[in-house]
Amino acid sequence: MITIKSEREIELLRQAGKIVYETHKYLRPYIKEGVTTKELDQLGEAFIKSQGATPSFKGYEGFPCALCISVNEEVVHGIPNDYRLKNGDIVSIDIGACYKGYHGDSAWTYPVGKISKEYQDLLENTEKALYEGLKAIHKDGHIGDIGEAVESYALKHHLGVVKELVGHGVGTSVHEDPDVPNYGKRGTGPRLRKGMVIAVEPMLTLGSPAVYVDSDNDWTVITEDNQASAHFEHTVVITDDGCEILTGE
Ligand code: MG
Ligand code: MG
Repeated sequence: MITIKSEREIELLRQAGKIVYETHKYLRPYIKEGVTTKELDQLGEAFIKSQGATPSFKGYEGFPCALCISVNEEVVHGIPNDYRLKNGDIVSIDIGACYKGYHGDSAWTYPVGKISKEYQDLLENTEKALYEGLKAIHKDGHIGDIGEAVESYALKHHLGVVKELVGHGVGTSVHEDPDVPNYGKRGTGPRLRKGMVIAVEPMLTLGSPAVYVDSDNDWTVITEDNQASAHFEHTVVITDDGCEILTGE
């Protein structure tokens, strides 16, 4: 069921989103060579709690950590561990925070030290694909408008679009209806309505878009060809003139 949020709910979602944004900002200086993804997870969890919130992903369907941290060919749902980031890696950090019962959800892929031109382009174009998706949002438009915008931008830049994972509604649950795929056709899918809150989250790859789930932990989604992947996500509320980003500045 797709829900339309009240002004009071949107204000709480705005506060949750702000905490997610602040957590990203707080972590940024720690993202460098030598830090383990587990250390980043612990820093992130402590920060979220210091803001009076709880990490949305911890315990979600049994996920063991606060943040999802995915390195290079890992697309999403990486479990923080003892891996030390190295110069030239890219690391996707997906953060969810729950504040007074409402969630915010945002992912960003960061460079570690100096990265290749190819990785730089992947990051830049995945971030741009997210904003293309957000620009396609109009009240009374359709979910398919977002997918078409993301997909056409990605394909124009020769990037793979992961189809197995999609964006989603956000509210009192971190994953709600509707699904928000990164592909589709303009004018199709559920109608967009003012007051709907959704997470738009392109996951793009340098090579093939095919992925599999790591059988060691049943969580981490990895590209089949082991080429790098990036993930950029914002939670937004649909407004009279497009959308307001809840997980940004
Ligand atoms: Mg997320
Ligand atoms: Mg999400």
